[in-house]
Order: sequence, then structure tokens, then C-alpha cells
Amino acid sequence: MKLTEAQSDRAVGAIVGTAVADALGAHYEFDRPRLGADEKAQMLGGGLGPFAPGEWTDDTTMAWCILDAARGLDLRTEEGLTAVAHNFRTWAESDPKDIGNQTARVLDTAGPAPTAAQLQHVAEKLHEMTGHTGGNGSLMRTAPVPLRYLGDRAAVAEAAAAVSALTHWDEHARSGCALWSLAIEHAVMHGELDVRSGLSHLSPAEATFWTEKLDEAETEPPSTFNPNGWVVTALQAAWSSIAQTPATGPEHYVEALNTAIRIGNDTDTVAAIAGGLLGARWGASAIPADWRALSHGYPGIPGDALATLALDAVAAGRAR
Ligand SMILES: [Mg+2]
Repeated sequence: MKLTEAQSDRAVGAIVGTAVADALGAHYEFDRPRLGADEKAQMLGGGLGPFAPGEWTDDTTMAWCILDAARGLDLRTEEGLTAVAHNFRTWAESDPKDIGNQTARVLDTAGPAPTAAQLQHVAEKLHEMTGHTGGNGSLMRTAPVPLRYLGDRAAVAEAAAAVSALTHWDEHARSGCALWSLAIEHAVMHGELDVRSGLSHLSPAEATFWTEKLDEAETEPPSTFNPNGWVVTALQAAWSSIAQTPATGPEHYVEALNTAIRIGNDTDTVAAIAGGLLGARWGASAIPADWRALSHGYPGIPGDALATLALDAVAAGRAR
């Protein structure tokens, strides 16, 4: 079955929406500066890189690593996951402008050419050793995963958890990636925002856990979810911004990102997470054209190249 034009626009929106939001949030990362209550976020660059205006950070770079593999391979297989691991490692060796602590540690320990099984083994050992592998670094890059499996919700959940476990073994990281990826799949296919649609694909314990966390995100002020380096508070920050910003139309994309960035702390990552779902709901056509024109980043490609890759991943999945 072919996607409708609107569905294709939303599939592209999931990826370009991540990239643009990531670049928008980069300027405000760790509150240098903090976006004021009445201010609108500007595409200024800077941040930890420093990044050029429109340049995406590690969040979208890692999403690209997944998207590139998903064009040709099934992310539920060792081969597909090893292709992702290879892309992660090549990027980590390229002297990146920024990289998450947990991701760097797993990639360093795994050595120069890790298979997926080797990377997951290191991630699991790190979890056994520290008990803390629930950073937001796998959720921030999950938007490409559902594109390969549109219409197959069980496959979305399985692939999202497996890709998370390459670096983030923690149960909540894996289930959070599944939940968010399922929300993106639902948004692309049906044009609706429904993050609870994925709860039935989680274990009963994880479904109960996330139901409480989503309740909090919908009732507590978004500013509650700071700091947001933990996968749980990052997902809550992103969802609270989306759910508590009035969704009057496509401008919801920009307005909810302003809410997300005002929360502060890990602003590029919270914006990237929110931007993936907002883009999947409202489509690439909802993203301001001047921001799209500035969009670029690793591996030396413009934002429009991400749009092509997104449609390739969709086509690869639909052909299965
Ligand atoms: Mg980043």
C-alpha cells in the first residue's frame, strides 16, 4: 500500500522535524541563555558545538546513523543493528562537536568495529556495573525507527527497543523508545497525537510506569520536567510541551517547541524528541521554510537530504 501525500509529508516531518528542532534548541542548551517566558526561540546556533545556525547536533546525527541503516536493512536483525553500530562508531571517531557521556563510554569500550551483539553486551555490562544507563540519548534518536515499519506496530516496538539497547540498556530507555516510536507511527499513519497508543505494546509493569508518567506530564506544568537528562523526564518534558500547548493547527509545531525549550536544561534533546513527534503529526509542510533552508549537519548533508532518506526508509519497509 502506498502512503497518501499527507502521510508522506508526515513521515518526512518526523525526521526533518527532529533536525530543525534539535538545531533550534542547541542555542539554549544548559540555559546559556535560558529562553524567557515571552520570548520565541531563534535559529542562532552556538551551544556546546559551537554549532552554525541550522546545524543539527548529536541527536540528529545519531538519528541519521539509524536512518541510513534502515534504508537497506531490517533494524530487528543483527545485520541491521550492526550497520547502525558501524555508523555510530564512524561518527564517534570523527571528533564530533558533542557526544553524550553514556554513548561515548559504550562506543569507546566496544572498540573500533563493534558488532551489534558486542555493543549491546557492553551496554548491558555498563548497566550491571552502574545501574544508570537511562540517559535520554537513545530516545533523542528514535524517530527514524518507525518509518521502516509503518503499519506493523509490533515491529516498531521491537526495533525501537533493540536500537536503544545498543547503547542504553535500561528498561525505561528501551520502553520509552518503543512508546515514542509508536506515537510517531500513529501520527504518521493517522494524523493524530496519541502517545498512549503504544502502551499496549509494553510489558504490564512498563505500561503502568509510563501511564503514571504521562499523567504527570499532562497535569504538572512543563517546567516540572527540569532537569531532563533522564529518559523519563526527557519524555515527560517533550510530551508536556506538546500536550499543554494548544494544538490549533500546523503552528503547533513551532509553539510547542517554544514551550519545550523554555523548560531549559537539555533543550536541544527535548526539542529533538518533541520535534520528531510534532513533525510526524503536522508534517514537514508545518516547519518554517527559513529554518528548513538552514538545516544541515553530519555527515555533511543538507536537511533536504534527510527528507529523501526518510522516504527511502518508508519505501524499504513498504516493499517487505
Ligand atoms: Mg545534542
